[in-house]
Amino acid sequence: MSSPPPLPPRPGAHLLVGAVDGHVHACPHRNARSLDVFDAVEQAAAAGMRAIGLMDNFCSSVGYAALARRRLGHLGVEVFGGVVLEPQVGGLSVEVVEAALALGYADDDEPHPADGARFVSLPTHHTRAVARMEGRDANYVAAGTDDVWEFLTKVTVWIQDSERHGLE
Ligand SMILES: [Zn+2]
Repeated sequence: MSSPPPLPPRPGAHLLVGAVDGHVHACPHRNARSLDVFDAVEQAAAAGMRAIGLMDNFCSSVGYAALARRRLGHLGVEVFGGVVLEPQVGGLSVEVVEAALALGYADDDEPHPADGARFVSLPTHHTRAVARMEGRDANYVAAGTDDVWEFLTKVTVWIQDSERHGLE
């Protein structure tokens, strides 16, 4: 497999050399995307970037990152994923986090050191008001909350569950 062609010179392109962008939306989505995960890795390599983090609000991005590393690891860009605890992903769930931390392509039953979630985020589009504003469907809106205290209670319980499971 050959390296992607270099990008045409652009002002400020030198700032990307060695950069890490931890918030790249290139995973499959309900809305159109301008590039897919492989495109993003190839463009990052062409720009000389060190790493990209795949962000996805509908599922864990850990598997996409593992697949991209397996397919395009020769380009030298570190690709990492994580999980945003949106209702569609499983919500504030210790089990969702545990699965994301363990997901990858194990070699001889040993996890690859780059596998597993590199970030865990609280929900970002979870309130009904935001979901309505974003035009989400009825199921998405119903899974959200209007009550900040309800949400904070869920977060508190989740943190307590995480500590009981030994997650830091
Ligand atoms: Zn985002």
